[in-house]
Amino acid sequence: VAERRRSWWGWGYEDAALGDEELRAMGSLLAERMGLTGSVLPAPRVADLRIGRPRLRPPAALEQLVSDDPEDRARHAHGQSYLDVLRCLEGRLERFPDLVAHPRSESELQAVLEWCSSVGAAVIPFGGGTSVVGGVDPAVGDGFAGVVTIDLAAMGRVLEVDERSLAARIQAGALGPSLEAQLRPFGLTLRHFPQSFECSSLGGWIATRAGGHFATGPTHIDDLVEALRVVTPRGVIETRRLPASGAGPQPERLFLGSEGVLGVVTEAWVRVRRRPRWRAGGTVRFASFEVGAGAIRALVQAGIQPANCRLIDPLEAQLNGVGDGTTAVAIIAFESAEHPLDAEAVRARECLRDHGGVPEGEWRSSSEEGQGGGAALAWRRSFLRAPYLRDGLMRLGVLCDTFETAVVWDRFEALHARATQAVRDALDGFGARGATVTCRFTHVYPDGPAPYFTVIAPAAVGRAEEQWRAMKQAASNAVLAEGGTITHHHAVGRDHRPWYDRERPPLFAEALRAAKRVLDPAGVLNPGVLLDAARGELE
Ligand SMILES: Cc1cc2nc3c(=O)[nH]c(=O)nc-3n(C[C@H](O)[C@H](O)[C@H](O)COP(=O)(O)OP(=O)(O)OC[C@H]3O[C@@H](n4cnc5c(N)ncnc54)[C@H](O)[C@@H]3O)c2cc1C
Repeated sequence: VAERRRSWWGWGYEDAALGDEELRAMGSLLAERMGLTGSVLPAPRVADLRIGRPRLRPPAALEQLVSDDPEDRARHAHGQSYLDVLRCLEGRLERFPDLVAHPRSESELQAVLEWCSSVGAAVIPFGGGTSVVGGVDPAVGDGFAGVVTIDLAAMGRVLEVDERSLAARIQAGALGPSLEAQLRPFGLTLRHFPQSFECSSLGGWIATRAGGHFATGPTHIDDLVEALRVVTPRGVIETRRLPASGAGPQPERLFLGSEGVLGVVTEAWVRVRRRPRWRAGGTVRFASFEVGAGAIRALVQAGIQPANCRLIDPLEAQLNGVGDGTTAVAIIAFESAEHPLDAEAVRARECLRDHGGVPEGEWRSSSEEGQGGGAALAWRRSFLRAPYLRDGLMRLGVLCDTFETAVVWDRFEALHARATQAVRDALDGFGARGATVTCRFTHVYPDGPAPYFTVIAPAAVGRAEEQWRAMKQAASNAVLAEGGTITHHHAVGRDHRPWYDRERPPLFAEALRAAKRVLDPAGVLNPGVLLDAARGELE
């Protein structure tokens, strides 16, 4: 079987991308509605990029691990944000790592890190490269001898499974599908399914505190990490496997969300579970998103914890083929490895009906492996296809981006209204006809939801980056002004820094800087992410 080729610029695998014919058909449908020209931007080519010569040469001992191949450098020059893909499509990718290292073991990784520290080269840890916040962008500022991206793909094995404690030791480079395939023979699963599951890695999830598909309960990777191993320029930190501990601040917490600035996560013990056998759930319609939000709040505050609990506004439901545009839709699902779920499903159904919902179908518990039918299935299909569709829409000249946050219930409505309006106003400034701003809840907690906004508009010809920046700034300012966080699960990277700096207490920033000085004295690890790029002892 031929190995599938990853796209060097866009999402996922080349064989799954939308083809030119498909795009032309879509383009003619959208041309009238959005005022597009209908023309399709060609897929970019590495040969058209201006990739300078690497500024660094590895020592002989590392030559085998390190590549300066142009495609390798281009693939590692960006993540998967709208801006990343836009720059690739417009042929404006300007910064490239000088070298890409592919260590196969911790000792090889350590050797690369030591060399980079000694010569003052910036180091960018790279898992699946699905960052949407500039987290793997080699924009490290001046003052470095060069940039070395360390790709962990060759460190992707499940090393140990403790079936008694339900935990597994897994290398950080494991991508979602491979990690799950290795756990499957044990009847186990991590069940951490971010939308980027196909191409993102365990180390990336840990470094960005990724949010999985569970809408309630333990969904952040934080909840699933039992212990960590991290290689820093000062040595290795390994934490103790414990189900829980009250012994001071938790060491793992320093590295969860550290986005590659304190060390490279090489492996983790993670909490796994038995594969679910029972599923139950269904859909509920609401007269409006606001009525739905009230019902979902009642549900989670009653202690009901569905595995899936997506509330989707009317327009987004329509765009995803799960509604007709007149009602908001909630997709609710429970799952269990142990028992049928009729009681949970009935309770949820009743609760949502009591709060203005109109449930559809029977909601019977089933032991089938399937993913449910009707709206749930349609939603799942379009959810998994969305990243490929995004790239296709961009080739047609569409601005297509998302932003997300979390906020207490008390402030949700104001945030929703202000963020939506701010984005509309920003896009109006660019004369964007047919722009849509939609919202869904990706996660819900007893004290607040995680609203996720999708923005689709015609890209301003010749000014697409400027337009995106105006939109992003307006959205981020509105989110912060109304009490939200700059990110519930997309992380900070370089793009969210200005707003992260505003939400983070100054004294905490100082403490984080101090931790970095201890672990990374030369200041080479992912400069500019979370903290300003600051060269330490080498200065
Ligand atoms: C279409 C799409 C859908 C997405 N959906 C979700 C979602 O549902 N939930 C969610 O949380 N996020 C989502 N994201 C964002 C992204 O997938 C996550 O941030 C993910 O955790 C990144 O993993 P990665 O392996 O691709 O990391 P990368 O993009 O390679 O790196 C991300 C950051 O972590 C650092 N890093 C990577 N590996 C390590 C390591 N081993 N040690 C130390 N630092 C490291 C990098 O330096 C960088 O700063 C989505 C992105 C896209 C493009």
